[in-house]
Amino acid sequence: MSSEQIGKTHGFYIVVSAPSGTGKTSILREVIKKYPNMLFSVSYTTRPPRPGEKEGKDYCFISEEDFRERIFRGEFAEWVENYGYLYGTHALTMKKYLEEGYDLILDIEPRGAKKLKEYYSGGVFVFILPPSLGELKKRLSRRGFESERMVDKRMYKALDELGEFVWYDYIILNDKLDTAVNALSSIYVAEKCKRERLENKIRDLFL
Ligand code: ADP
Ligand code: 5GP
Repeated sequence: MSSEQIGKTHGFYIVVSAPSGTGKTSILREVIKKYPNMLFSVSYTTRPPRPGEKEGKDYCFISEEDFRERIFRGEFAEWVENYGYLYGTHALTMKKYLEEGYDLILDIEPRGAKKLKEYYSGGVFVFILPPSLGELKKRLSRRGFESERMVDKRMYKALDELGEFVWYDYIILNDKLDTAVNALSSIYVAEKCKRERLENKIRDLFL
């Protein structure tokens, strides 16, 4: 996928990162409902599905063997190991949707985000912060599908990840959910209005 193809003549991608429990899923779910042209990029993972998660909608759930074969075939635009499981963004799927003119929203962690920033230009990078560490711990516990030990592990990782916000384009503080949803919607709409993303359409107007 060349840099020309992303962000100029086609759709563009928005990466949203945040430590687990910050509220990414809640925010993305609301924003995606509002914009039919925005698609959620469904990652591949070796982690087992959580209650309520659907195959092909939340993730494509595959075995580690299958994942490693796909790494070997170069199928992923980026991939990482996280909490002992593998997660990756499928390059061809991403390319296909962007070429069809859809905008993609990716829920991925900072290491993978950095790889995309390096190799695929035209992306927009948004980091979501919790209002406080105390509130983050409460939200992690409220999700209810993990042990106290796992919550502590995620808190430890959160402290590590929080510092990554420095290289993102936009920061959203998820204190009130509605405000955070409005902030991400505003970023999307403003990015869609960027002159360089509209140059082809504008040229057509004058033909
Ligand atoms: P993530 O996808 O970042 O792990 P979730 O969207 O699953 O986070 O949210 C974690 C928990 O926090 C959920 O119980 C969710 O309802 C709650 N939550 C999300 N945003 C807010 C908010 N702004 N205020 C209070 N609770 C929130
Ligand atoms: P969870 O297991 O809670 O759904 O996700 C754990 C972490 O993996 C989250 O920070 C999420 O953003 C990240 N993640 C999900 N899919 C991908 C992916 O395809 N690539 C990368 N790099 N991270 C991902």
